[in-house]
Amino acid sequence: MKQILILFTATILMVSCHQNDPRNPYNLPIANTMKAYLAQVEEDPNTELIDLEEAIPGVALYIAYATEDNFTGVPIYTSPKAYLCRPVAQALAAIQDSLQSLGLGIKVFDAYRPYAGTVYFYEVYHDTTFVASPRTGSIHNRGAAVDLTLIQLETGEELEMPTRFDSFSDTASHSFMDLPEHILENRALLRGIMETFGFTIYEHEWWHYNFTGARSFPLRDVSFEELATNQSRKDT
Ligand SMILES: [Zn+2]
Repeated sequence: MKQILILFTATILMVSCHQNDPRNPYNLPIANTMKAYLAQVEEDPNTELIDLEEAIPGVALYIAYATEDNFTGVPIYTSPKAYLCRPVAQALAAIQDSLQSLGLGIKVFDAYRPYAGTVYFYEVYHDTTFVASPRTGSIHNRGAAVDLTLIQLETGEELEMPTRFDSFSDTASHSFMDLPEHILENRALLRGIMETFGFTIYEHEWWHYNFTGARSFPLRDVSFEELATNQSRKDT
């Protein structure tokens, strides 16, 4: 009886510890150490998070969450980095390559997002149309979603789109048609090339694309710094 009581107490303690973990309040299967992350990569190399600046020649980044220029008003990321799982990064590289003949390229606003960011976003903005619920995590936490637009390669100028990035409005929706013709064309151009290379739209945000089979990639909460340190270790 005493043993059962001890076991019972230990179980209660373990459960309450999990519930109190502010980094994972819903007890999801999240790799939140480099050890766990590297074990996943060892088992399936496709789950490796790849630095887009290395994988995509000439890619433009404007990582809004590393600046104050985002809906939270404060920087969420400690460095302006963009990582995606290997096949997702490869598909984007193919897109950049095929856009070149049009004199265009991609500009990435957000890619892999550590899970802690999703928890924070939800605290700031409680509408799951535009912010993922921390109960399930975001496809960005899986390194299989990207927020992006198109730019003129020569000038870096963005093509005009229906709204700014992260404009939480009806105008951001793919079904919003009350727009000038050239803006509709630009949105359709981005959609066409993304779909050709295996991405699917998110109806409410013209800038957000999920990769095919996105939910099969694991949820992560490792920082950009940890990923960069791991990369430099590999390079030396
Ligand atoms: Zn997104």
